[in-house]
Amino acid sequence: MSENCIFCKIANGVIPSKKIYEDEDVIAFNDINPSARIHFLIVPKIHIESLAHCETQHQTLVGKMLLLAPKLAKEQGLAGFKTLINTGVDGGQEVFHIHIHVLGGGNLPKT
Ligand code: 5GP
Ligand code: ZN
Repeated sequence: MSENCIFCKIANGVIPSKKIYEDEDVIAFNDINPSARIHFLIVPKIHIESLAHCETQHQTLVGKMLLLAPKLAKEQGLAGFKTLINTGVDGGQEVFHIHIHVLGGGNLPKT
């Protein structure tokens, strides 16, 4: 756990969230400020700063996160969805703990 990391705190239950999924590696919860009718985040429990900080050892974990997107989207009743990974300040990342955005159900942002 990285101190002062909001997603580490959520993953460890220190900060509450509207959790939709959890296993030993990953947690998924609703975005606090949704950009679509349904907007959740898939987050690894270990602290990795961004996609640009992933290494070969993280390949299985990142693959697992990605494959959870359609599974959880279906559980949320979505027929289709948009995925987004913001990387770095220049990529629009605001929380520096890697996460996949999953958005759907109407009011989708254009990109
Ligand atoms: P980024 O811009 O880093 O890709 O996205 C960060 C996302 O995390 C934003 O959509 C923001 O609304 C969400 N977020 C930030 N703080 C919290 C929080 O404390 N709880 C939840 N559930 N979402 C958060
Ligand atoms: Zn973290």
